[in-house]
Amino acid sequence: MLRLPDFNYIRPRSLKEAVKVLADLGPEAMAVAGGTDVYPKMKRGQFTPRHLVSLKFLKELRGIRPGTKDGMWIGAGETLTAVSRNGAVNKLFPALAHAAGLVSTPQLRNMGTIGGNVFVDTRCNYYDQTFFWRQAAGFCIKKDGDICLVAPKSKFCLAVFSSDTAPVLCSLGAVANFFGPGGLRRVPFEECYRDDGINFLTKKNDEVLKGILIPRASFGQRNVYLKLRRRGSFDFPILGVAAATSLDREGICRSARVVLTGVASAPKAVTEAAPILEGKKISKEAIEAVAEAAAKVSHPVDNADMDYWYRKRMTKVYVKRALAQLAGLELEPEAGARAAGE
Ligand SMILES: Cc1cc2nc3c(=O)[nH]c(=O)nc-3n(C[C@H](O)[C@H](O)[C@H](O)COP(=O)(O)OP(=O)(O)OC[C@H]3O[C@@H](n4cnc5c(N)ncnc54)[C@H](O)[C@@H]3O)c2cc1C
Ligand code: SF4
Repeated sequence: MLRLPDFNYIRPRSLKEAVKVLADLGPEAMAVAGGTDVYPKMKRGQFTPRHLVSLKFLKELRGIRPGTKDGMWIGAGETLTAVSRNGAVNKLFPALAHAAGLVSTPQLRNMGTIGGNVFVDTRCNYYDQTFFWRQAAGFCIKKDGDICLVAPKSKFCLAVFSSDTAPVLCSLGAVANFFGPGGLRRVPFEECYRDDGINFLTKKNDEVLKGILIPRASFGQRNVYLKLRRRGSFDFPILGVAAATSLDREGICRSARVVLTGVASAPKAVTEAAPILEGKKISKEAIEAVAEAAAKVSHPVDNADMDYWYRKRMTKVYVKRALAQLAGLELEPEAGARAAGE
């Protein structure tokens, strides 16, 4: 049985105190919310913080408020169960409720928070192993080593960004509200990430996500999230497709965003979706063109479940399914593809 190493557990009474403690203790301190990513990684020696600063009991991080002046507010400390079951989230943003409800297992969703989910560590078959396994295989640059075992010539780590909810928030134009030593900072979710398996977050270590704002402009948009994984019971996504569109009364597409997860070290926006889809009715030909564009920006490598070429091929299939669902179109079934996207 793997055991947790020794560490100091700090339980601040306010968000202000949490940020001060994180700033004072520096890189040896780490925030923990539900702990469903942090604690297993400490047991496996992937995370080695001396101090854990708990966000679990902070009232400032709680609450789901659908009717604020600026849009819907979701406290970062809300559990994935709470987000997936919230009536307003289900009504306005079914993609988000669905994505939150597909994360891991019921027990982990009861503990895991949406704040922890959007910052969950990147994944790789050579890294998500016990210390002893990694020691025997040889360490890699993400932790303790100096070579990438997947692509030895790569100077960068190619670990995979695998959050289910982050691509949905990017597709909905959501804004991250950080509280740090300098006060509040608002950052669009798509600017919270960079395509680097080690430094995949743009936020600083002493910044805490207070909450998520989904702007009013996104109310009324059609939105969907499809997830590919081996086991339907629980598994990280090896591909996720989030799509959001707004259609006017005549069915003309006024805005369109498609964002992928599980295919790079950050959520990957398919920037061609907007110019291809906007200003006209969504057709099968346009959907095909967006799916082609998505397959071009999807770069899975051989470090996650299932073959990387299959995951790349399924990008096209899942993007087509997601957009067809939003447009109310029926597509021909693809040979060799999985029957249904979750
Ligand atoms: C068996 C298993 C299966 C899983 N399956 C999935 C899956 O299918 N999809 C998926 O997306 N995830 C999955 N996970 C990962 C994890 O359970 C979820 O991502 C969960 O939402 C993490 O939330 P948490 O509150 O437990 O985060 P923690 O473990 O507490 O923290 C995760 C990271 O976020 C940071 N953090 C947390 N809250 C904040 C905040 N408010 N401000 C700033 N930083 C913060 C922490 O410092 C840490 O770096 C799985 C985990 C396990 C063990
Ligand atoms: S992609 Fe390479 S460096 Fe990154 S975790 Fe995997 S083996 Fe390590």
